[in-house]
Amino acid sequence: SFPVIAIDGPTASGKGTVAQLVANRLGFHYLDSGALYRIVGFASLQRNIPLDQTLALAEMTQALQIEFKGNAIFLDHQEITELIRTEEMGLRASAVGAIPEVRNALFSLQRSFLTSPGLVADGRDMATVIFPEAVLKVFLTASAQIRAERRFKQLINKGISAKIEILLNDLVARDARDTQRKDAPLIQAIDAHLLDTSEMDIETAVQKVVDWYHA
Ligand code: C5P
Repeated sequence: SFPVIAIDGPTASGKGTVAQLVANRLGFHYLDSGALYRIVGFASLQRNIPLDQTLALAEMTQALQIEFKGNAIFLDHQEITELIRTEEMGLRASAVGAIPEVRNALFSLQRSFLTSPGLVADGRDMATVIFPEAVLKVFLTASAQIRAERRFKQLINKGISAKIEILLNDLVARDARDTQRKDAPLIQAIDAHLLDTSEMDIETAVQKVVDWYHA
């Protein structure tokens, strides 16, 4: 089997950026598991499947045609890269992520990303549920205030107007749902390294993970 680096943490912690850069540095594949939950959320809205129809959601999830081509994401051959990045889709992803049947339906798909020479897996339950055998586990976080500011800057850079207080409220609500759900809650694995990036730049965080991997 091939090595896995599992990077888990809350929203807007910078883990996506760090995970992707670590994957580039090591020449590993990259799994953005949050994107899968966003796609399920997006598809459930597109197909009008309500959240209480758990069986229908699981069946829909199994049948989704998802493709990653570089940074672009396709659902049923339609590009949805930007469509799933909205706050609305983040909240919907968190709602479908609370459904055990949906999580089960995504299990094998996530495992299938582990191919030669290795994988950096980014999410909430990479170290605890999907890749418990990971050779390196990192719990990457930052204070809620810093994360809200980072999200704010991202949106402003894209020309989208935003209010920090609203973003802060949204991310605190999403964190609460992610940590309190019964199935695969967001928690630091006992064997995970804690990486608090509140006062750390991206390159320092990437170097830290690469150093741990080589240690
Ligand atoms: O990381 P991202 O913000 O794209 O994730 C969106 C939502 O998907 C998270 O708030 C979480 O509820 C859910 N998710 C999850 N398990 C993962 C990745 C994401 O439940 N492995």
